[in-house]
Amino acid sequence: MQNVYLDHAATTPMDPEVLEVMTPYFTETFGNPSSIYSFASKSRAAIEKAREQVAVALNALPEEIFFTSSGTEADNWALKGTFEKAKGGHIITTQIEHHAVLYTGEYLEKTGGADVTYLPVDAEGRVRMEDLRAVVTDKTALVSIMFANNEIGTIQPIEEIGRFCRERGILFHTDAVQAAAQVDIDVKALSIDMMSLSAHKMYGPKGTGAFYLRRGLKLENFVHGGGQEKGKRASTENVAGIVGMGVAIEKMKTRLPQEKPRLSALRDRLIDGVLKAIPHAKLNGARGEERLPNNANFSFIGVEGETLLLDLDAKGISASTGSACTSGSLEPSHVLMALGLTHEEAHGSLRLTLGRGTSDAQIDYVLDVLPQIVAKRREMSPIWRA
Ligand code: PLP
Repeated sequence: MQNVYLDHAATTPMDPEVLEVMTPYFTETFGNPSSIYSFASKSRAAIEKAREQVAVALNALPEEIFFTSSGTEADNWALKGTFEKAKGGHIITTQIEHHAVLYTGEYLEKTGGADVTYLPVDAEGRVRMEDLRAVVTDKTALVSIMFANNEIGTIQPIEEIGRFCRERGILFHTDAVQAAAQVDIDVKALSIDMMSLSAHKMYGPKGTGAFYLRRGLKLENFVHGGGQEKGKRASTENVAGIVGMGVAIEKMKTRLPQEKPRLSALRDRLIDGVLKAIPHAKLNGARGEERLPNNANFSFIGVEGETLLLDLDAKGISASTGSACTSGSLEPSHVLMALGLTHEEAHGSLRLTLGRGTSDAQIDYVLDVLPQIVAKRREMSPIWRA
């Protein structure tokens, strides 16, 4: 049996070279970056080097990068910080955002009286510009639309959205937690004002993220306490994590020209193979350049996603489904429902996300195993037999 990890959208393995660069900051170079003696200045310098590495990767300035504990925290900061600074107002986001944005929006509605619009998407998960134009008002303080979706991999028309928001004088935040590891992002060319990133999606450590805030923009400070991160995000820095994020994003950027076409080709072979081998298989999300190079998401009617995961696990394949069984209730994915899928289609969904370790042989293995599993489960399914 092979071990095939196809859940890179959930998290990626740490690059051993990233770990190597991080290790001294856990051990010998342990000084507090805020201390003034020269020993501690090594920690401070390491953070500033990482800030530079992140900035270079995004065509940003180092002073525009703030380190956080996660992508979730950066999303929270964008929404809460803007809302507090604007002293209320209207926020536009989408129905398919990660819960880090959706639940923050709901929190602001509940506690701060925010007016939040959740835009629908088309059948492939794309926001329509005409929908965005139609809901903007004089009170709109923020548009928060993810760069690419974590479940279905659809990439949004970010350049157009950015240009529109800039022309209208509305702040534009994008959650690029998934996209930043897969596609080139130039924050200036795309007119992005704020952006969220996470190191563990790009072969870096868990528990470290970054928030891009365009120079000159003022948001409320997010974590109150010491003067770290210019006082905007207090607390002693996770030096090793930050160092790891800097190296991880730099390496990712260097590898992208080779890795993007390699993964896109593997993805397309997987998608075409599954659609050919499995009757009534449905691809969720867009195709080609409008889809993340590493994402494939299918629905198989007559099969429960969670059962599929267990069967795949028994064959050594790690994957994910959109029908996460949270606290006993089998809620279908809000993303798949927003595409207009039926409950059955959403419950029978499977997400396979590729990465650096994914090989041709692994795709062959999945294309051999998956059709057999789906066929076997369908034989037992009353829905399918009916
Ligand atoms: N946003 C998106 C689109 C994600 O996919 C994720 C994680 O899966 C997050 C935010 C949260 O990132 P983190 O795990 O760093 O909190």
